[in-house]
Amino acid sequence: MSKLGRRRRQKVIRKPQKRIPDVYPCPECGNTAIKIELYRDNGMAVVKCGSCGLEMVIDEVNSLTEPVDVYGEFIDRFYEEREVAT
Ligand SMILES: [Zn+2]
Repeated sequence: MSKLGRRRRQKVIRKPQKRIPDVYPCPECGNTAIKIELYRDNGMAVVKCGSCGLEMVIDEVNSLTEPVDVYGEFIDRFYEEREVAT
């Protein structure tokens, strides 16, 4: 037996425990720059676009509300307002 198995160095990739940034696409400018600040104690959340400055307060927040829920509400309201305006 002359076959030598080549040893491959195994790279140890450590996954840093990075928090997934809560950034969402903006319906106004199209950039993924929407940040959601949740104020569960106050029952509200602030949705802000870091790119175009779009801002909206969502006041239907409870202890189970996640940023993605706020984003969904924000999108709904955004398009509702659009429809009213046009
Ligand atoms: Zn924007």
